Amino acid sequence: MKTIVCIEPGVLEQRVVEKPSAHAGEVLVKIRSIGVCGTDIHAFGGNQPYFQYPRVLGHELSGVIDAVGEGVDLPIGASVYIIPYIHCGKCVACRKGKTNCCTDIEVLGVHRDGGMAEYLTVPSSAVVVTDGLDFNDMAIVECLAIGAHAVRRADIGPEDTVFVQGAGPIGIGAAQFAKSTGAKVIISDILEEKLAFCKDEYGLDGVVDATKDIHQQLSDLTDGEFPSVIMDCTGNVHAMESTFTNLAHGGKIVFVSVIKKQICFSDPEFHKRETTLIGSRNATVEDFEHVVQSLKDGKVKSGALITHTGKFSEFVDLFPLWANPDSGVIKAVIEMDI
Ligand SMILES: [Zn+2]
Ligand SMILES: [Zn+2]
Repeated sequence: MKTIVCIEPGVLEQRVVEKPSAHAGEVLVKIRSIGVCGTDIHAFGGNQPYFQYPRVLGHELSGVIDAVGEGVDLPIGASVYIIPYIHCGKCVACRKGKTNCCTDIEVLGVHRDGGMAEYLTVPSSAVVVTDGLDFNDMAIVECLAIGAHAVRRADIGPEDTVFVQGAGPIGIGAAQFAKSTGAKVIISDILEEKLAFCKDEYGLDGVVDATKDIHQQLSDLTDGEFPSVIMDCTGNVHAMESTFTNLAHGGKIVFVSVIKKQICFSDPEFHKRETTLIGSRNATVEDFEHVVQSLKDGKVKSGALITHTGKFSEFVDLFPLWANPDSGVIKAVIEMDI
C-alpha cells in the first residue's frame, strides 16, 4: 500500500509498504479522508514538541472497516472515524477517565505512525461507527473535539464572555462550541479577512485585531470588565502571556495550544484576579460524541471550516503549499484517490 512519510522537518515522501493486517482486538481501516492539522504542519516545520522522525503523519481520520481481528465484533464495511489517542487504561489519569492525558499516551501520527496511508490498524476501541456524516466531516471530528474539550474544561455558560485567541481551525471550533453554550464570544487573529469571515459565518459577538492594542479592544468590547474566559489557540508565547492581564477578575485561562517555551506571568496579576489556569489536551470519547451530535444537529458547522481539499496522490506537492500561512487554508482535507 502507499503511505506518506515525513522523513525529517520539511521533507515528505510517498513510499510503498506492506499492507497491515488486523491482529486480535484490532480493526483494519481503509482510510477515506484525512484532515490536515496544525500538529501536522508543526511536525513538518520541526516545531512539534512530542514528535519523532521519520513518521507517517495524519491523526484526523475517517474510513471504512476493511477487516477485524480476533475478538472484535464490528461490521465490515461500516463507516468510522478514529479517536487517535491510544491510551493505556491503567494509569493514574486513565483511572479517572482522563484518557486524553494518559501517562503512556500514543497519538497516531505523533508518537506512532498515523493515517496518511491506504490502510491503518488501530485498537477496536479507537474506532466509532457513525452514520449520517460524510467522510470529510468525520475526518475533522477530532479537530472540533479539541475545542469542545477546552470549552468543557472551562465549564462555559451563558453568563460568560469568552475571548478565543487565534482563528485557526482549533480556535474556530472552540469559538463555535463556546457560542453554543449561550456565551458571548469574541475572537482574535492577525488576519483581518479571517475575522470578518468568522464573525459572519459563526455569528460571533466581536472581533479583535491582534496586530493592534488587544487590551484596549477587549476593554472597549466588555465595558472595561474583560473576558471571563480566555482560550488561547495561537501557539504564540506573547499571546499566551498576555492572557494574564487581559482576563476578568475571577476568570479562567485555558491554554489549548502547546508551545516549546516557558510561559512567564506576574504573580500579583495572577493572584488579584484569583485566576484559574487550565491546560487542555486532546479530547475524550465524550467530546467526540458531543461533536458528532452537534454536527448532526447543525449546532456547529464544518462546511465553512474546510477551505481546501486535495487528493492523496498529490499530497506530497500540496502540503508545503498548504503549510504556508499565506495560503488561506483554514482546514484542508485529503481525499483518498488510490
Ligand atoms: Zn488535529
Ligand atoms: Zn493511561
